Amino acid sequence: MSQAKINRQWILKARPKGPVDEKCFEWRESEIPKPADGEVLVRNLMLSFDPTQRGWMTMDTYVPMIPLGEVMRAGSIGQVVESKKEGFAKGDLVQGAFGWQDYAATSGGGVMPMSKLPPGTQPNLAMGVLGITGLTAYFGTLEIGLPQKGETFVVSGAAGATGSVAGMIAKLKGCRVIGIAGGEAKCKWLEGEGGFDAAIDYKHEDVAKRLHELCPNGIDIYFDNVGGAILDAVLAQIAPKARIILCGAISGYEQSDLPPGPANYFNMVLKHGRMEGFLVLDYLSKFHEGIAQLATWHAEGKIVQLEDIQEGLENAPRTFMRLFSGANMGKQLLRIADPE
Ligand code: NAP
Repeated sequence: MSQAKINRQWILKARPKGPVDEKCFEWRESEIPKPADGEVLVRNLMLSFDPTQRGWMTMDTYVPMIPLGEVMRAGSIGQVVESKKEGFAKGDLVQGAFGWQDYAATSGGGVMPMSKLPPGTQPNLAMGVLGITGLTAYFGTLEIGLPQKGETFVVSGAAGATGSVAGMIAKLKGCRVIGIAGGEAKCKWLEGEGGFDAAIDYKHEDVAKRLHELCPNGIDIYFDNVGGAILDAVLAQIAPKARIILCGAISGYEQSDLPPGPANYFNMVLKHGRMEGFLVLDYLSKFHEGIAQLATWHAEGKIVQLEDIQEGLENAPRTFMRLFSGANMGKQLLRIADPE
């Protein structure tokens, strides 16, 4: 990929009311910015796509929403082209929120503080199993799920970036792992390379019926990435002292009128269950420990990265929409340039 001579950018033009479409964004071309004192000029190499960006487009959450007219915010890996910031040098690979654009002049502060990639770390892994989604799976599964050998662990969004790693970690801890995902190809991967014990294709199968067949003693742990009807089906079949890990609820992210909450939640009372939401940033002080463990498991082949790498900055909006149609298998990335 040749080096861009201008700065191509995707600007947030309109806030989506329902599903995101390309009209929410505007393509702009401008001069490559110049770094001020205390800043670096970063050339973006690879963008991360995360369902949370849908929230950043429309509301203040754990970070302020993206102002209209600004570059679409996104986590990414880039390479320092010019440095006027102590501790950073030309050629360094860095991670931060450099957005949907070729170049960013930044001091590295803000929503996702800039950090250098540890030497030898591959950018795709740094945004996948060794990045935010891997860490989300790690802390959600281990700190909230508290998996014990022989327990039944169910995860939705199972062939996604977070769900796939959560299932693999539960497997490492000796659980029987069942993944729920959309489509035959995803279920085939889960039962094959993913090492899951079984998979349920929620787009073509009756989830409640399949859970009943696959979890005769009930569900001990549920890692929820999707909310909605799947959460409700799980709640009806939890085992005593079940733990429900509330990680995400993507089935509702594009709905402006949310449906009523889960009808089966009273089963949490009858089964003495526990339901706990979390944000991965709650565990910031332990990230180094999580990354080290995930890197060891990855090097040993005990967890693998399922990933979907698209190409070209012009495809950023279309790549983002893949998360909501379920077109992505694993971590959704977009390669926009090669390192020097
Ligand atoms: P991902 O799972 O790689 O991609 C999103 C997947 O969601 C799609 O591939 C699709 O898979 C599924 N999906 C989309 N619409 C759906 C619907 N209506 N019903 C059921 N499934 C649907 O994305 P990710 O980055 O790993 O994120 C997964 C979840 O974790 C999201 O809810 C996200 O918000 C959450 N998350 C939370 C934290 C935290 O700190 N709590 C951090 C990171 C991510 P199918 O083909 O299987 O439908």
